[in-house]
Amino acid sequence: MIRLLFTSSLMPNIDLHCHSNVSDGLLSPAALVERAAANGVDLLALTDHDDVAGLDEAREAAAQLGMGFINGVEISVTWKKRVLHVVGLNIDPSHPDLRNGLQGIREGRAVRARDIAAQLDAQGIAGSLEGAYAFAENKQLIGRSHFARFLVAQGYVKDVKTVFKKYLVKGKPGYVSHQWAELGEAVGWIKASGGIAVLAHPGRYDLGDGNMRALLAEFKEVGGAAIEVVTASHTAQQFALFARHAAEFG
Ligand code: MN
Repeated sequence: MIRLLFTSSLMPNIDLHCHSNVSDGLLSPAALVERAAANGVDLLALTDHDDVAGLDEAREAAAQLGMGFINGVEISVTWKKRVLHVVGLNIDPSHPDLRNGLQGIREGRAVRARDIAAQLDAQGIAGSLEGAYAFAENKQLIGRSHFARFLVAQGYVKDVKTVFKKYLVKGKPGYVSHQWAELGEAVGWIKASGGIAVLAHPGRYDLGDGNMRALLAEFKEVGGAAIEVVTASHTAQQFALFARHAAEFG
């Protein structure tokens, strides 16, 4: 049970999904915590992609600032050829099942990065592997966002948003289909480590109603406990839609 004294108001500000430069964020874990505190956050979870390496630093910074902190992670999953994200909250980052599972995913990232770079090379875009790694603070967490920053820095596209219209997505140069964790595996690691599994930003997966229901049913079946409703990835209409789904699926 997490007990907290909320300092800012009766309605606490809670953010349970944040990334530091351990994955694809821009701030160090401590700087992220400081920024959250300065913005009035009472309770924060750090949920870096496929790595728990930032948690100690973030927890320490939160303790110094008197802010509540939850150990988190966001695990990459392949489900029906789509990439989904499952957030684990209140995990034990030292649990061997979770540690080994995340290690396997990180090893897959290096292979994928080489495949992305080979495709960009074939399009006449040289040096993207080294270029992308230069943007990755944690080399093990090399990902598409680092290639995106390289493409912007080299002037191939004007901003990161535009990158994902021309490159690195299905049907465009630099797209590599990759098998991440299975849905049940990711949820299993989270649960084994004492955490609860949350389906991240379901509105981002471009699923029709039938597939969305199939996903929510399967997620619950394998032990998933919650879905993300209010997130910058969703429209206000989607807040209402996913709140209904959450209620319907329990
Ligand atoms: Mn995500």
